Amino acid sequence: MNDDPLSRIRVVLVRTSLARNIGSAARAMKAMGVTQLVLVNPKSFPDAEADALASGADDLLRGAHVVGSLAEGIADCVAAYALSARAREWGPTESFVREAAAKGVARTAQGEVAFVFGNEASGLSNEELLACQEHVFIPANPAFSSLNLAQAVQIVAYELRMAAAGRARPPAEGLPPATMADLEGLYAALDEAALASGFLDPAQPGRLHARWRRLISRAQPEREEVNILRGLLRALMKRWRDGANS
Ligand code: SAH
Repeated sequence: MNDDPLSRIRVVLVRTSLARNIGSAARAMKAMGVTQLVLVNPKSFPDAEADALASGADDLLRGAHVVGSLAEGIADCVAAYALSARAREWGPTESFVREAAAKGVARTAQGEVAFVFGNEASGLSNEELLACQEHVFIPANPAFSSLNLAQAVQIVAYELRMAAAGRARPPAEGLPPATMADLEGLYAALDEAALASGFLDPAQPGRLHARWRRLISRAQPEREEVNILRGLLRALMKRWRDGANS
């Protein structure tokens, strides 16, 4: 059933240390009907321990995509949700898992959607969090809020299943949304212009990156809107370089 919203949802595991967690995550996913697994720099994969813990979900492991960076794993997605128990001073907009699952399922109307999980010991870095559009919390005991990786995947997969609840994906409306790769292109262009103009002091970048990522993520721009901004920045940079060289 390829109009199943869950078929457009991928679980992205970043720098997973323990192969058995990859196996348990696959089992947790398959039981909820979430089948796309992406592994960013796993420590050991394929691995017999992953196979053993997947018990019957080994087809998900065989179909898993192994990639070298988070950016690569989510480049073609229209939305990416980062799971982290740790509150950050500056990060993307925050939400709870139930709300994020509902939003994620709704956004499958427009394209692929990622739920991103961190390493067992260190979680997701601030940079990895800012590569996504939302920071998602699983409500937990504030004094003991860090779940086992595969158990966190289980809860997310369950919430996704409840949010999808056998519904077919609604038809796409409006113009194509920007993908994560389009957004990274815009951030890079903003960075270049901010540095070239002297607006941004590289020694003291402050919160600038986090702030524009947060702003643009909130706006959920169309691809064409992002292209307009990138085009404008490119034209300004060209004029600036031509001026600098004359
Ligand atoms: N020690 C790590 C936590 C690792 S738990 C840290 O300090 O960040 C492994 C992964 O499971 C996390 O990176 C996160 O993606 C997910 N996770 C665990 N508990 C969570 C919670 N309460 N809310 C959101 N994500 C959680």
